[in-house]
Amino acid sequence: MAYSYEAPVSQTLFDRASLVTPGGVNSPVRAFRAVGGTPRFMVSGTGPYLTDADGREYVDLVCSWGPMILGHSHPAVIEAVQSAVARGTSFGTPGEGEVALAEEIVARIEPVEQVRLVSSGTEATMSAIRLARGFTGRAKVVKFAGCYHGHVDALLAAAGSGVATFGLPDTPGVTGAQAGDTIVLPYNDLQAVHEAFHAHPGEIACVITEASPGNMGVVPPLPGFNEGLKAACAKNGALYISDEVMTGFRTSKAGWYGVDGVAPDLMTFGKVMGGGFPAAAFGGRQDVMAHLAPAGPVYQAGTLSGNPVATAAGLAQLRLLDDAAYEKINAVSAEIQSLVTAALSKEGVAHRLQTASNMFSVFFTGTDVKNYEDAKKQESFRFTAFFHSMLSQGVYLPPSAFESWFVSTAHDERAVERIAAALPAAARAAAEATEVSA
Ligand code: PLP
Repeated sequence: MAYSYEAPVSQTLFDRASLVTPGGVNSPVRAFRAVGGTPRFMVSGTGPYLTDADGREYVDLVCSWGPMILGHSHPAVIEAVQSAVARGTSFGTPGEGEVALAEEIVARIEPVEQVRLVSSGTEATMSAIRLARGFTGRAKVVKFAGCYHGHVDALLAAAGSGVATFGLPDTPGVTGAQAGDTIVLPYNDLQAVHEAFHAHPGEIACVITEASPGNMGVVPPLPGFNEGLKAACAKNGALYISDEVMTGFRTSKAGWYGVDGVAPDLMTFGKVMGGGFPAAAFGGRQDVMAHLAPAGPVYQAGTLSGNPVATAAGLAQLRLLDDAAYEKINAVSAEIQSLVTAALSKEGVAHRLQTASNMFSVFFTGTDVKNYEDAKKQESFRFTAFFHSMLSQGVYLPPSAFESWFVSTAHDERAVERIAAALPAAARAAAEATEVSA
């Protein structure tokens, strides 16, 4: 499909980038390969809007893949960052900012008694897995198909996000030894979990799951699924790790734990807690966390862990995320969800809009999506047409049918009106799309 609204400056930048960076991007899904066309190079963001290098403004429904929950350039976050930067950018020593951020996390999320700060969600899940193995003395890890936990070698098997977007079964470069202790099960299938424990008695260190998956599109846990995981882990001496990198501090003040109340042994965080900077964390039971160096024998470290600028941004953002902020995000999310459903229904487009609190995504299919196999059955070519119509009308959606959409407290009436105005043509484009035209 040719896109008549190509962005010439973005195209020039993408050509330059492609010479010096593999695929022209520093994270695969940004490249638009799943939907075609030119990735937009953004130059600034304010509130719910992004402006690209060609000077076009978009209502942003990606929010940097989750972190920008207050919108772009929030004055309180910018001020906190400027004031931190003025005092220095990295000391390689402990600092008060990281204590305050850890205290904020512990205060919000009851099962987190201690927390260790890192710089990315990938580092958080990698470290949590190592800790679980070190604590239990066991090797095997259970994960679910379609769940993405960052690009940790052992966790890339049947992963979501970019791995799902590009339909990669696995990735070259991960050796059999690295992946050999990973057991991949279908999501939302407790029977499969019981069978895995039965087949590997005393061998499974942990079960890691997205608290509510958003990396195969939004596929919430069925009632009782997370409780069942916790119970199965407890019964079999394994740790239950809830990956809240995406849902943490987004789906409620206490993330998905605040929604379903199932207390994991370990949790991982990222995105929102960094306020747009590289800050992430893992934490949980004190007796488990005590196994981490220097308190215990499991090694884990980071030159920029607890960076003072990143922690200042994260803390400023979290302190603004009170009950009223979540009410606002939930309300605007619900409004956008109903506009999308109405537009697609009006054009007779089979779809399922699935939600997890204020996270949501649209599957172009007529049946409920409970796992990755269901997600893959959707008509992604309809998403492609829908995406490009929205983009051409100034609404920036995730460039993949396998990703959550994100809103912020800054998405106001004007932003919602712009989305509403773009939806009828996008729904029509989805209705008219054929596999060939995509
Ligand atoms: N875990 C989940 C649930 C995620 O959604 C992501 C990223 O999207 C990660 C882990 C990895 O985080 P990062 O990209 O910061 O490494």
